[in-house]
Amino acid sequence: MLIRDRLAHKRPVFSFEFFPPKTKRSVRALWTNLEQLALLEPDFVSVTYGAGGSTRTRTIDLVARIKRELGIEPVAHLTCVGASRDDLCRVIDDLGERGVQNILALRGDPPRGQDGFTPAPDGLRHASELVALIHERGDFCVGAACYPEVHPEAKSAASDLQFLKQKVDAGVDFLVSQLFFDNTHFHRFLKAAREAGITVPIMPGIMPVTNLSQIQRFSQMCGATLPKPFVKRLELAGDDPQAVFWAGVQYASYQCRALLEPPVTDPFVRPAKGVPGIHFYTLNRSPATRAIFEILRLSRSAIG
Ligand SMILES: Cc1cc2nc3c(=O)[nH]c(=O)nc-3n(C[C@H](O)[C@H](O)[C@H](O)COP(=O)(O)OP(=O)(O)OC[C@H]3O[C@@H](n4cnc5c(N)ncnc54)[C@H](O)[C@@H]3O)c2cc1C
Repeated sequence: MLIRDRLAHKRPVFSFEFFPPKTKRSVRALWTNLEQLALLEPDFVSVTYGAGGSTRTRTIDLVARIKRELGIEPVAHLTCVGASRDDLCRVIDDLGERGVQNILALRGDPPRGQDGFTPAPDGLRHASELVALIHERGDFCVGAACYPEVHPEAKSAASDLQFLKQKVDAGVDFLVSQLFFDNTHFHRFLKAAREAGITVPIMPGIMPVTNLSQIQRFSQMCGATLPKPFVKRLELAGDDPQAVFWAGVQYASYQCRALLEPPVTDPFVRPAKGVPGIHFYTLNRSPATRAIFEILRLSRSAIG
């Protein structure tokens, strides 16, 4: 099933993101989490591609296994880091042969210790080039990344949006956003993207916080602002892991509800349509995402 078809026929769409584990033990733990999340009948799950292509085989094996054993539609992430055009063609063909029809095309981050992104010899410089290459290799549905708070390397929000438009025009079927904690940034970005002529579905990326210091590190890395009241709430929870867990679940549930059902501000104006779905960054754990999903399910109108 192509994700673009699912997005065209079903709203809202829910997806969960995982990374390929390194050890046999963590593979077993991930599989338990996947089986629990499978009960929620996600529309798709996506599997990340490690820095420098380090998880190449594990990513491909995991997406193929998810499709085969759980019957969930997988999306394989793929990056340009450390790969020549021929290397990328081999990975794309391998995915196609294993029945994986959906790919999230990314440039990737520079490997640790390297300042800027340098393409591999005969490699690609931007995700837009990878989008075009994937379409040359077969009939894939291609997703790509977008940044509500602007990509950290971008010269300006305007140039970032202009390059995003170029990327979408290269053949992107849907976009998944970087994580954010303040919906205002997403709404502002969405409006600018639509005004720039970007019409594909844009799924907001939500990460349930279960650990304050970890999320502070993450948000520094990807430039996501942490709203002060939320940080205060997490600080109040202190060292109590249960209190932190529920503070994170409550906050992410509030974010999802507000995105799926924008508030009605004018009774004479038809309420604005909500987002097409939510992409959850799970960090390979299931309890927080399951709890949020249950809260959303209780609000039946949000789930549909
Ligand atoms: C949903 C999501 C999933 C991700 N999954 C992974 C993963 O699995 N593995 C991984 O390693 N990383 C992953 N990342 C991180 C991502 O690889 C990095 O954020 C990376 O720095 C940029 O990738 P991109 O695909 O957005 O690149 P691009 O779209 O190429 O953009 C990168 C930068 O270049 C600029 N740019 C784009 N085109 C041009 C052009 N023609 N000329 C000049 N400048 C240009 C953009 O404005 C931006 O600043 C993910 C990010 C998101 C949001």
